[in-house]
Amino acid sequence: MNATPAADAHGAETAGDRTGGCLCGRIRFTTRGPAVFAHTCACPHCQKLGGTPLMWWVGFETVTWTGEGGEPTWYETFEGEAKRGFCSTCGSRLAAIDSGIPEIGINVTALDDTSSADLVPIHASFRDNAVHWLPPVPETEHSAAG
Ligand SMILES: [Zn+2]
Ligand SMILES: [Zn+2]
Repeated sequence: MNATPAADAHGAETAGDRTGGCLCGRIRFTTRGPAVFAHTCACPHCQKLGGTPLMWWVGFETVTWTGEGGEPTWYETFEGEAKRGFCSTCGSRLAAIDSGIPEIGINVTALDDTSSADLVPIHASFRDNAVHWLPPVPETEHSAAG
């Protein structure tokens, strides 16, 4: 299963597999499908769980856990509705599953290559909760609220 960059000059249908993993390497994954809704989030959960002013998220339709550590350890942030996955050895944040969202959320920082254009955030969630000293993430998405 190799990425085929020559074939996708015109579309997302052949979006190549992407790989990623945690800091210690026990948990590894491969994603399938195009990157969906890359965004940052400064909600209180992202700040607490991430140890960071904001987290950087993107969705993929399929994520396969390929490392010796298998799946991340899941912590339910809203019981039965949302859970966050992390490596129980090194603590790296990796993923989120939300019952209302078809894609699996991946922490972009867990990907091996974070440079592609479709990972640039198009939306900033919980902007009102962002720390005041960090410049706002530019939003390219049209916002009806202005
Ligand atoms: Zn790890
Ligand atoms: Zn959040």
